[in-house]
Amino acid sequence: MISVEQAQSLIQDGISSAGTETVSLSNSLNRVLAEAPAARIAHPANTVSAMDGYAIRAENVATVPGTLSVIGESAAGHPFKGKVEDGQAVRIFTGAHLPAGADTVVIQEDVDRDGDTVTINEVELGRHIRPKGQDFSVGDNLLIAPLRLSPRHVGLLAAGDHPWLQVYRRPRVAIVSTGDEIVLPGEPRNSSQIVSANGPALAAFVNAKGGVPIHLGVVKDDEDALSSIAEAAKSCDLVVTSGGVSVGDRDLVRKAFGEAGLNVEFHKIAMRPGKPLMFGHLEDTPMLGLPGNPVSALVCALLFLGPAIDRLQGLSGASPQQRPAILGADVKANGGREDYMRAVLSQNEDGSLTATPIFAQDSSMIGALANSDALIVRPVGAPAAKIGETVPVLSLDGLL
Ligand code: AMP
Ligand code: MG
Repeated sequence: MISVEQAQSLIQDGISSAGTETVSLSNSLNRVLAEAPAARIAHPANTVSAMDGYAIRAENVATVPGTLSVIGESAAGHPFKGKVEDGQAVRIFTGAHLPAGADTVVIQEDVDRDGDTVTINEVELGRHIRPKGQDFSVGDNLLIAPLRLSPRHVGLLAAGDHPWLQVYRRPRVAIVSTGDEIVLPGEPRNSSQIVSANGPALAAFVNAKGGVPIHLGVVKDDEDALSSIAEAAKSCDLVVTSGGVSVGDRDLVRKAFGEAGLNVEFHKIAMRPGKPLMFGHLEDTPMLGLPGNPVSALVCALLFLGPAIDRLQGLSGASPQQRPAILGADVKANGGREDYMRAVLSQNEDGSLTATPIFAQDSSMIGALANSDALIVRPVGAPAAKIGETVPVLSLDGLL
């Protein structure tokens, strides 16, 4: 049995990017940038005014107040064509080109305007000017790839004049739920059948991580049926199954997928929930066999499927970030499996978080998981911990 960390690094090493494609800027949110784009325009593109006021030559107002004659106007999109000479000023607005000859903008609050003259009451050489390229110049690298694009990145790429971008392809992730007892939500069922929570939850998770879920439905605990779905799923970028990976007589995924070319890299990890987790390659396609219990399946999705999908999108596939929280209740010593305890979070006055384990830790209880905020991470062999001690937690927000 390998550790969670070993499993994560085997998955990281065993998966590479699924390739790139071109998308329009307007479709780029949440996609992973594949190539660092260089600015095609400077920002600002010209030296402009940062305020509404008057463009002047500061040396013309050696002592205040000083009076200048207003010779024209420079507005955004409508530059003043002439030059500011000694004794002159140009009315200017935010974003307008600084006229030739001017070196300073005096804000309108600091002047008195009277017809074609303006009296300057305060001046500071070089104030209220945004020099060309203050933010970035032509040819500057705007972002470092790979990077998942957020709205502010989209804004920057727009400002750098990039209507098209090279991003990693959204990986196609096949999702197969297994089990004679499983039917999809809303389907007719008999009294011995249950509804698949895992298929829809995993599809939602794949979507949230930027992949394209291909939900192949529910397959019976039947070797032939499982082998043929394995064949069908191979053309995707990643295959994810749930259920059928334990050691029972009805756990046929490993054997049936083996007939379709599965090479298993590991098949048991020292964690709870989720001991039976399988990773391998179905010929060239990576495959993750998740346990059937919904909490196990989803905690394993957070720890292993998420990084796998990141990896396919050119990212490092790092494990989700843990952060410290204060225990809200005593916890027992941990055994030989890393434990991920469902917990609720509350924020303390000083900004710190308290994580209180919930009572229901059974791995079938998706209701308990859905109403939790975080997982308290209990390392292998961790001693008992008291209320008030600091422990690492994994936040569930956004993802699970
Ligand atoms: P298995 O790993 O196939 O032995 O399944 C372990 C437990 O998870 C069993 O109680 C299954 O009924 C349950 N289970 C398996 N697949 C799903 C699913 N897609 N949705 C909800 N529960 C499931
Ligand atoms: Mg089963």
